[in-house]
Amino acid sequence: MQADLIIVGAGMVGSALALALQDQGLEILLVDGSPLSVKPFDPQAAFEPRVSALSVASQRILERLGVWEGIAARRVCPYGEMQVWDGSGTGQIHFSAASVHAESLGHIVENRVVQDALLERLHDSSIGLLPGARLEQLRRSGEGWLLSLNDGRELRAPLVIAADGANSAVRRLAGCATREWDYLHHAIVTSVRCAKPHQATAWQRFTDDGPLAFLPLAGPAGEHWCSIVWSVTPAEAERLMALDDACFRRALGFAFEHRLGEVLQADPRLCIPLRQRHAKRYVEDGLALIGDAAHSIHPLAGQGVNLGFLDVAVLAEVLLHAMQRGERLSDVKVLSRYERRRMPHNLAMMAAMEGFERLFQADPLPVRWLRNSGLNWVDDLPEAKALFVRQALGLSGDLPELARV
Ligand SMILES: Cc1cc2nc3c(=O)[nH]c(=O)nc-3n(C[C@H](O)[C@H](O)[C@H](O)COP(=O)(O)OP(=O)(O)OC[C@H]3O[C@@H](n4cnc5c(N)ncnc54)[C@H](O)[C@@H]3O)c2cc1C
Repeated sequence: MQADLIIVGAGMVGSALALALQDQGLEILLVDGSPLSVKPFDPQAAFEPRVSALSVASQRILERLGVWEGIAARRVCPYGEMQVWDGSGTGQIHFSAASVHAESLGHIVENRVVQDALLERLHDSSIGLLPGARLEQLRRSGEGWLLSLNDGRELRAPLVIAADGANSAVRRLAGCATREWDYLHHAIVTSVRCAKPHQATAWQRFTDDGPLAFLPLAGPAGEHWCSIVWSVTPAEAERLMALDDACFRRALGFAFEHRLGEVLQADPRLCIPLRQRHAKRYVEDGLALIGDAAHSIHPLAGQGVNLGFLDVAVLAEVLLHAMQRGERLSDVKVLSRYERRRMPHNLAMMAAMEGFERLFQADPLPVRWLRNSGLNWVDDLPEAKALFVRQALGLSGDLPELARV
């Protein structure tokens, strides 16, 4: 099979890119190892353990792609406040959407919900979907690439986009260099029912082991559900995963200082090792990396897929402008425009997360004192906080057209 462009990986990021490029006269193939089927949504079903805090910029992009409607019709929880505090000190900081006259700071959405809403649109589109197709080999052939799939099929295209996640096969097979390091953290994720309402607030406590987030979910009337992301050392993760349900709920409630009362119920837990990865280049002739295939960062600020959606919006803009000018889309000069716009932003976000993580891990007394007084000092500076809130909304800096109103 031959196409103008092949996207490997139909996760949230690859699917969004396919939709952003549809109906422009490009022959597009979207290849994924999974079945790409849409599950009928059951509002009574338990929450999926993997969720994302989608920024306002991501919401705008998904609105422009006609996907947000499908997300909102399933299950989302807007949040208007963020409460962050140092568990081993007195420092705390509070952010609110109202401080920048925004309706919300973002929405907590189950990844499955975003994925299904994207797939629903893709099944109605002219994009060539190849489900159950794992990429196994990739090599240069003539002017473009030859891709071999697990089922023996071969695909050819001058341009390949890697959207196949943190362990990207495309990145490995194409020999793209990456920098990577272990955070020495595992994230335990699950959904929990609390005794007290979550107040549409994203809560984050920095503990001695790592950050613990309680993110609000839209539970049934009268029930107060949150998604938790608990980052701890691998040894502590092993201990927490081995606890029985009652002991785990007690340990979680204690680690969260019972801010939302007792943890009454907990769904099955998932444990995810956290690694930071960053490709040294996002592009070469005929190839571009997007989303987690290009960069994966600590989930403490909930930015991973938001960065991925901005990659999508910028790459689509670059490719569509190049088409209008009659340029060759696979030309590394064209693709470099995407890299120039996205790499500094992604690197800055990764550095900020790294800094935060280290600051809160540091134990010496002077660092603790600085950290606590710094948090309280910034909490009293409305202008500084408004800057941070705009960053969290994803609306600062070089915004692509798809993320503008
Ligand atoms: C604990 C945790 C919490 C997080 N919370 C947030 C948050 O609050 N907000 C946020 O923005 N981000 C968050 N993230 C990050 C976010 O989950 C990721 O950035 C996002 O899922 C990446 O999407 P992606 O489409 O790039 O990759 P993926 O979701 O990994 O999708 C990759 C796709 O490629 C396919 N694939 C893989 N290999 C092949 C192959 N060889 N052939 C064909 N197909 C292939 C897979 O089947 C999959 O569909 C969190 C991450 C973690 C670990």
